[in-house]
Amino acid sequence: MRRVLIVDDDSFILEGMKRVLGQSFEVETADSGSEGLYKLSELGPFATVISDMNMRGMTGVEFLERARTVAPLTTRVMMTAYADPETLAASINRASVFRFLNKPVARREFVQCLNDGIAAYDAALATAAQTAPSDMDAAWLEKALARADFDEEFSINFQPRVASVSGVPHGVEALIRWHHPERGFISPVDFIPVAERGTAIRDLTNWVLLGACRAWTDWQYRHDVELAVSVNVSPALLADSRLVGMVRSAVSRSGIDPNRLELEITEGLEVQDGHKIRETISGLKALGVKLSIDDFGTGFASMSQLQSLDVDCVKIDRSFVTNAPNNAKDQAILRSVSELGRTLGLKTVAEGIEVESHESFIRDLGIDEMQGYRFSKPLPSDQLIPWVGERYKLLSTTLSNPRLLESA
Ligand code: C2E
Ligand code: MG
Ligand code: MG
Repeated sequence: MRRVLIVDDDSFILEGMKRVLGQSFEVETADSGSEGLYKLSELGPFATVISDMNMRGMTGVEFLERARTVAPLTTRVMMTAYADPETLAASINRASVFRFLNKPVARREFVQCLNDGIAAYDAALATAAQTAPSDMDAAWLEKALARADFDEEFSINFQPRVASVSGVPHGVEALIRWHHPERGFISPVDFIPVAERGTAIRDLTNWVLLGACRAWTDWQYRHDVELAVSVNVSPALLADSRLVGMVRSAVSRSGIDPNRLELEITEGLEVQDGHKIRETISGLKALGVKLSIDDFGTGFASMSQLQSLDVDCVKIDRSFVTNAPNNAKDQAILRSVSELGRTLGLKTVAEGIEVESHESFIRDLGIDEMQGYRFSKPLPSDQLIPWVGERYKLLSTTLSNPRLLESA
């Protein structure tokens, strides 16, 4: 039997719907958006979710936005309200709602809609099962990227970076997420290389840049939370003279302090077009933005390259961190990168800090900042500010130690 979740703050309606649907479907009910979110994440998956639009507390629109982050994409969502379907559809993100229904809904129409929703759920499940991301062929990805509606399908998560000694949040890395309407979540590891082979990477980088810079102004001026933000830039774009213009425009349109924007360039940088790359880099530095070498240690960046490219920060690849506590070779590499950073006056960041032993090892080496699941996974923008609040609460006891305060 197919599982259905109904969210409505009117208990009379909730009971009525349950009575009507209970014979044909397995029905769960929630009388608020927050209870709905709880049931979605704890009791899911559901084939369809029916939510009231106008609820006390969390509105249906808010519920819908948040439900998209906890329910699988295959789940079909329907909205109900005392309004005509056109007005309803206009006030909400159409693509994410399977059907709009105006109340009172006739029993037959209701059951019909649910059956349609469940059939669509089954079809989506079947497609998702056939196409694990690893089998996604490049040609399909290329077409899907070209067709993608960025604002609908892409989002940005932000993963915090903390100061190694004090634990204070210093910055965040913007990481793109793609929820394809039919195939669901597609990892950047799968689609970034495809985008890099064509022109999609430019539009995508432009979109992330602007989104990340706008998020920064929101944290800074609306929440009074001071963080640097970094954006990944494919090495291929460094040879594209339009990159400087893109960054300049994102800075001026968003109002971000350019000193607080960092661009992470993967070390795989093939310096084919040395002159162009140097020109782009000096253009970027003239804007005041910072540059980092990402995944350091996995490519061929040499010390002299670090100096000549005028970078500000090195991010050490997580592969060195993972085994460092028990692997002498990885320890030696980490130690030398840390030294190198100090000698050249670069900030050092270690990625992939997952457990306490990683944290203490990296801290003792004198690496400046840490990023990894131990502190937080990448978070949607609206969860980042609460995370920062919690982090400061957690640190408040340690921060009473003056030695730690100095290095914060
Ligand atoms: P990256 O820039 O090195 O990003 C770090 C990746 O490590 C992220 O994966 C992050 O979720 C993951 N990670 C963070 N902490 C941990 C940890 O403690 N343990 C483990 N095992 N993994 C951790 P994600 O988001 O899947 O991104 C993968 C790569 O895709 C990124 O690697 C970056 O190279 C690329 N990418 C992501 N977003 C963008 C973008 O907007 N533009 C470009 N050009 N590339 C992007
Ligand atoms: Mg990165
Ligand atoms: Mg990295």
